[in-house]
Amino acid sequence: MRLAVLKERRPGEARVAATPETVKKLKALGLDVAVEAGAGAASAIPDAEFAAAGAQIAPDAAAALAGAEIVFKVQAPLGPGEGEVDELGLIPRGALLVGILGVWGNEGRVSDYAARGIDACAMELLPRITRAQSMDVLSSQANLAGYRAVLEAATAYGRGFPMMMTAAGTVPPAAVFVLGAGVAGLQAIATARRLGAKVSATDVRPAAKEEIKSLGATFIGVESEETATAQTTGGYAKEMSEDFKRRQSELMAETVKKQDVIICTALTMGRAAPKILSAEHVASMKPGSVIVDIAADAGGNCALTVPGEKVVTDNGVTILGYRNWPSRIAVAASALYARNLLTFLTAFWDKTAGRPNLKPEDEIIQGVALTRGGAVVHPQFAPKPA
Ligand code: NAD
Repeated sequence: MRLAVLKERRPGEARVAATPETVKKLKALGLDVAVEAGAGAASAIPDAEFAAAGAQIAPDAAAALAGAEIVFKVQAPLGPGEGEVDELGLIPRGALLVGILGVWGNEGRVSDYAARGIDACAMELLPRITRAQSMDVLSSQANLAGYRAVLEAATAYGRGFPMMMTAAGTVPPAAVFVLGAGVAGLQAIATARRLGAKVSATDVRPAAKEEIKSLGATFIGVESEETATAQTTGGYAKEMSEDFKRRQSELMAETVKKQDVIICTALTMGRAAPKILSAEHVASMKPGSVIVDIAADAGGNCALTVPGEKVVTDNGVTILGYRNWPSRIAVAASALYARNLLTFLTAFWDKTAGRPNLKPEDEIIQGVALTRGGAVVHPQFAPKPA
């Protein structure tokens, strides 16, 4: 059985869905692995390393996909007219496609996969259960994004994070405020603390308060009856009420003006990112302050974030609203992502048959499987009755 790994072609994507380490393990399952030439280049993996691990290097996407029964991707394959190659059109009927398929807001992709007979699994829909932790692409990538966000903030900030006592005088520590204390936010807190900053953070989920404090940061947040139930059974935050938003905004007005650096990581699954920082909040900040908005792919937590751009406001606040933060630390992100996909496939590998067996009754498969045998099987993406 052949597994294909393509070069990622969407703009700004430097990751790859396999590494030499995972190729060896995929081969040990009995798979033939074809890697498109140049697939690992932006993640510092030359073709020769994939070849040494036992992969066949295919000259282009068509050659890699010919006869493939499994396709590993980071992002959704390009459809017709989306780029120089119609990757989707080259995927053989019946193939299993695994990747972060970006289906929220692109629901048409799901019906395309069904129409082309591709069995698609969207790894961003993986349930947050203990058994799935080692396959959890959102966690592995968010963790690195949170780390990277702090390093880029530290670079853009013209002072320094730690308190420095020098013969020429003392530099005070930076005040860093983290919005959203999920996987990315907790890593951002830990990284900023390691750099010596004075860190505080906010979240709406009740469990987050203790997690923030356990990392040595100060919790700042609105606590109410609503926040007591702000977590869904899936572990995600709910969208908050207008009343909560007003109270949170008032708290931000007090908090934000005292900050040197703000790291924005707040998300609500499948929806636009909550807008927590208003233009007025940003206007109250000191010149030279930095906001890094890693929620930019979902629109951002700051009203002045321009997704994909660096902006400097009239009052001298730098806002980094770059997209795709995991790709900014691509070597590590690829390594972890590739392991996530390997673990997923291995968990559902039928050794006797020498092929995957995605049991429809399994909670993980129910979470990620979009299409099967030409039909949409995911309840959230099933066609609505007319
Ligand atoms: P996420 O990326 O969806 O959101 C990031 C954070 O933003 C969350 O902590 C969320 O509560 C917060 N947020 C949302 N709206 C907000 C608002 N208006 N104001 C302030 N903060 C807001 O979350 P995530 O990082 O994917 O993690 C979500 C949860 O899932 C966490 O509890 C995490 O520990 C848990 N988790 C569990 C597992 C597992 O058990 N397998 C794996 C990963 C994550």
